[in-house]
Amino acid sequence: MKLIYSEDHRGHAGAMEMRYDEMIPMSECPERMDAIMGGLAAAGFDDVVPPAAHGLDVVHQIHDPAFVSFLQRCYPLWEEEFGPGGFATAYTFGMRGMDQVPNGSVHSMLSCYTFDVCAPFVKGTWPAINAAKDIALTGVDLMQAGESSVFSVCRPAGHHASQDLAGGYCYLNNAAIAAQAHLNAGAKRVALLDIDYHHGNGTQRIFYERDDVLFLSLHCRPQDEYPFLMGYDTEVGAGPGKGYNVNLPMPRGTGYDDWSKALQLAHERIKAYAPDVLVVSLGVDTYKDDPVGGFVLQTADYIDVGSRIALLGLPTHFIMEGGYAMDALGQNVANLIGGFSKMAAGAGGQ
Ligand SMILES: [Zn+2]
Repeated sequence: MKLIYSEDHRGHAGAMEMRYDEMIPMSECPERMDAIMGGLAAAGFDDVVPPAAHGLDVVHQIHDPAFVSFLQRCYPLWEEEFGPGGFATAYTFGMRGMDQVPNGSVHSMLSCYTFDVCAPFVKGTWPAINAAKDIALTGVDLMQAGESSVFSVCRPAGHHASQDLAGGYCYLNNAAIAAQAHLNAGAKRVALLDIDYHHGNGTQRIFYERDDVLFLSLHCRPQDEYPFLMGYDTEVGAGPGKGYNVNLPMPRGTGYDDWSKALQLAHERIKAYAPDVLVVSLGVDTYKDDPVGGFVLQTADYIDVGSRIALLGLPTHFIMEGGYAMDALGQNVANLIGGFSKMAAGAGGQ
């Protein structure tokens, strides 16, 4: 399987984050990609392709152009006020009864276009966001050229980002942009399966009223986990999208027995939908020792996860999302991609 990857993410580093009652270095760090690429290489996945530059046309089909412009301008504007160094983050958020329209100051933009304190901006943030988008879109190009499955190794991740809100380490929604590009390239229906530990609230919001993308998310329930206000199984889509949003929330502490049953339910829904392409928001923060997670999947379980995804028999586009247990991250991702590839090869030479 071809891996699409770029070093342009490295400059997106150095910020701090609030973890409940303390400030800590960001769990979401460049070393995550070293662990993932190292784990994949050790497992024999070393066909690495650089991304091709893509413009913003597809991005603007998913995201508000004013929001995209904010992502590009945020740090330069911040530097004008505070000088070089440090990181930009919101001080207030646009809440009930407050104006939702930025007034020109970078602070008002941060207040209107981010929803939590986990989307900091440093000098290298926009180049990383832009490269991650190119990595996702290059994956679509490769599948158009005949690849049956590819892995876009994106950083930063995307599934918490919606049309006009960044948060949860996410800025542009790489998986949503990829799904749109697959539709643009001729797919009639795309299934987007999100197996990250956290609910894909951004992706849900983007496709909530659409029936050309079936969104399914396996995640920790909002009673126990971030983003706390979305991810209930009663959120089923609206308008033409009614019935095309599937949330499978599980309590903190869930292990592979129950998690794999939820995956089986997702499998049946995807089969019934009969999509042309499957996009997978691939997070492995479901791992038992993940510092940001609370499920208890084991490293060996990811082989089975990959196998089960392959059994769908669909052209499959993996997009990297979360996973923060540095010691096991590379092996967990390699196991999933390895399990997928082995099953896909056995099932018909993918
Ligand atoms: Zn996550």
